[in-house]
Amino acid sequence: RPVLEITEAVREYPGVPPVRALDGVDLTVMPGEWLAIVGPSGSGKSTLLNLMGALDKPTSGSVRIDGHEVGKLNDEKLSALRGRSLGFVFQSFHLLQSLSALDNVGTALMYRGIPAAERRRRAESALTRVGLGHRLGHRPSQLSGGESQRVAIARALVGDPALVLADEPTGNLDSRNGEEIMRLFGELHADGATLVLITHDDEIARAAPRRVHIRDGRIVQGALV
Ligand code: ADP
Ligand code: ADP
Repeated sequence: RPVLEITEAVREYPGVPPVRALDGVDLTVMPGEWLAIVGPSGSGKSTLLNLMGALDKPTSGSVRIDGHEVGKLNDEKLSALRGRSLGFVFQSFHLLQSLSALDNVGTALMYRGIPAAERRRRAESALTRVGLGHRLGHRPSQLSGGESQRVAIARALVGDPALVLADEPTGNLDSRNGEEIMRLFGELHADGATLVLITHDDEIARAAPRRVHIRDGRIVQGALV
């Protein structure tokens, strides 16, 4: 069963005339796939990310995430779906500065009623998986950009999500750290993770085995990548 299935999705923002940010998007992601979505500024990437992340609903068409039709869920159920099925990685890391790496990762499990000792155990395991087993007690200010992004990736993985969404994950990193992060995604993919990478950067997208282009709110299959 697809992890993500988007069918004829249209998203219009109000205006006179309305802005059609997505104009009939079809996209299916199967378990274990690593897909890059590439497009220039204004092409609809953020709008699509918001649909894939259950942060927004399509104006028309269908978005199914991990078997759930997003359009039919209320805010509470959307929030539960995000917590259970999705992991997010952002350009700017979004770590809490006052917390250690271990606690930044462990707090992602707070809302599931998992006891503190078990949260710590799983957070340590996720940080070890991204190569940061020796940085558990460090705060974001004591970590490099590349290490900070690894913490964010551990946080995205710790709940064992059906799908990890990474939005320009190398955008705040120098090219060496960026390449290391893409290598880590490669390892996670080899391990069976399902990944969607969103980027404006063709070079970065080349790390992913499957690529689609988005342009003016439409998916253009592989040819242009
Ligand atoms: P990208 O992330 O690729 O830069 P966006 O999804 O942000 O693209 O934007 C796609 C189109 O929708 C652009 O024309 C943008 O100006 C427009 N847009 C995005 N958000 C809004 C909004 N809240 N209201 C009106 N228009 C918007
Ligand atoms: P960055 O600039 O770090 O890539 P943004 O702050 O632009 O990330 O966020 C990208 C998108 O993700 C936005 O549409 C935003 O609403 C959403 N978002 C931001 N923080 C969170 C979060 N903690 N959980 C879920 N979605 C988020």
